[in-house]
Amino acid sequence: MELIDRLNKEKRLSSSEWKKLLSSWIEEDRTYAAFIARTVVLQKFGKSIYIRGVIEFSNFCKNDCYYCGIRHSNSKIGRYRLSKEDILNCCQKGHSQGFRTFVLQSGEDPYFTTDKLADIVSEIKNKYPDSAVTLSVGELKPEDYTNLFKAGTDRYLLRHETADEKHYKALHPAKQSWKNRMRCLQDLKDTGYQTGCGFIVGAPYQNIDCMVKDMEFLSNFNPEMIGIGPFIPHKDTPFAAEKTGSLETSLFFLSLCRIMLPDVLLPATTALGTIDPEGREKGILAGANVIMPNLSPSRVRGKYMLYNNKQNSDVETSRCMIDLRKRMSSIGYDIKISRGDYKGRNNS
Ligand code: SAH
Repeated sequence: MELIDRLNKEKRLSSSEWKKLLSSWIEEDRTYAAFIARTVVLQKFGKSIYIRGVIEFSNFCKNDCYYCGIRHSNSKIGRYRLSKEDILNCCQKGHSQGFRTFVLQSGEDPYFTTDKLADIVSEIKNKYPDSAVTLSVGELKPEDYTNLFKAGTDRYLLRHETADEKHYKALHPAKQSWKNRMRCLQDLKDTGYQTGCGFIVGAPYQNIDCMVKDMEFLSNFNPEMIGIGPFIPHKDTPFAAEKTGSLETSLFFLSLCRIMLPDVLLPATTALGTIDPEGREKGILAGANVIMPNLSPSRVRGKYMLYNNKQNSDVETSRCMIDLRKRMSSIGYDIKISRGDYKGRNNS
């Protein structure tokens, strides 16, 4: 608990302190960290939860991440792409339900060139000038990031996956490089995006040193958003037989991130909601302040399967929102209709 107090006071720990905390924490530390994280988040955001509508617009992917169900080599899934009209329809439905951020996510699909994406983004921004657009379409060239930013993209999510280069190699084929991923994150930040990174809790071959590096990377990079959730195996990947990441460890990391970076926008991720029916509520109570419901058309939801049993209700958005509001109010929180921008150092 001493180390958690120190993190709260100084907003950083040394490598050896991280190592000590991450290798020896017990349940009491986790509940204490959640308690501190809730106090921190309450001061910054009150009891309001931001929502982001996720549109998974293509599951084609040229990459081959060993953990991911939509990897190139998985020939068992049906591939799909949404049209611009489909995407705009999702936004229209989402906007009428109170969404003021749209997250466009896909595999790395060369069909969606920067020009095509820029056209879609600028159309969304024209139609919904009160809304933010977030892209999550993987590693691109610096000039592509610049062009998409100029088209009106506000934010970009690109998880670093792991801050340990060797570990990265154990999770990806040789042609995917950790250095390039890190270069992309720096480019995104330099371009002016609110940038999100993050790692997978309990990924195969992850050890304490990897986690220490993840926390130190987050501390140095100081991202506006962090996406973390448990590893969940997918049956048609090389990691099919690997163990699912732990709920408790995921919650502990959410709390540590909140304590270390009080302003950060921190979702209770879909993966958390997948391994526990109350995962999202537990995430909020551990210091998360964002929920990212799915706005994709129900006909494609089952096809964006990053891992087994990915939580995806095929009920329509309005019904989902009633359920979500109920769930949030049952733990004393409510959903805020707002873009929910980062309010820390850069964009206040
Ligand atoms: N192509 C985009 C989006 C990737 S999918 C990109 O490269 O950024 C979004 C995230 O899902 C990934 O970054 C990864 O962290 C997570 N993910 C993928 N497979 C997973 C699995 N089996 N378990 C848990 N998280 C997974």
